[in-house]
Amino acid sequence: MDNASQWEIEQILTGDNYIYLFVQGSEAVVVDPSEAAPVLELLKGRNLRCTCVLNTHDHWDHTGGNEELKKKTGCLVVGPDQGIPAIDRIAAKDTELDEYIPGLQILPVPGHTHGSIAYHIPSARIIFTGDTLFASGCGRLMGCSADTMYGSLMRLASLPPQTRVYCGHEYTLENLRFAALMDPGNDAVRIRLKEVESLYREGKTTMPSTIGLEKETNPFLRVHSADIRNTLNMDGKSPVEVFAELRRRKDVF
Ligand code: ZN
Ligand code: FE
Repeated sequence: MDNASQWEIEQILTGDNYIYLFVQGSEAVVVDPSEAAPVLELLKGRNLRCTCVLNTHDHWDHTGGNEELKKKTGCLVVGPDQGIPAIDRIAAKDTELDEYIPGLQILPVPGHTHGSIAYHIPSARIIFTGDTLFASGCGRLMGCSADTMYGSLMRLASLPPQTRVYCGHEYTLENLRFAALMDPGNDAVRIRLKEVESLYREGKTTMPSTIGLEKETNPFLRVHSADIRNTLNMDGKSPVEVFAELRRRKDVF
């Protein structure tokens, strides 16, 4: 566990829920286990030991596997609030989790829920964004203001562009179709839409994205774009107003 450069990511896609394993040697940290069974199967198949579960927020489709994973592996369960099943440690900014992933940082990213956090591993150039930032999309505002979510998205957008983004759900195709409507002059969106269609045909996932790619193809990070503002008829409006209108339209897309 002392060499942060020796790691790999395993992805499990159940329905549209992503579960990730950050694997170092024979140890795995599991991010957002919606269920335990496929994780236990992978651990067994690869002879890995689960040391820790990290939850980005308290929704069941990210925490449903916590209890069983803890019972069967004895792992530590970490998440942002008391509502997390089987929680051992509440992660806020500066929570020490170095023993599980060297250099792991907790980023508060409220917006989808008040408590939402992202897990950032700068040495590996990886971030797990839960339901805050999706590939070409963002999470719904569940009790938070557009202003709050926009602030969190801007914080994520400020990370180095090479940072690989692993998000909570496979919504990429639908998100890109929405992006193509809102941002019709954006070639990067058109190209990515084609790429994602062929990934789907090959039965592959669309993760990871990168912060750089999101800044080119995610309409929620592009509220300054003249094209998007024209589409919405919102010239001269503030970034947050444009963001809120995009989010409203996506809710009924
Ligand atoms: Zn959620
Ligand atoms: Fe979710």
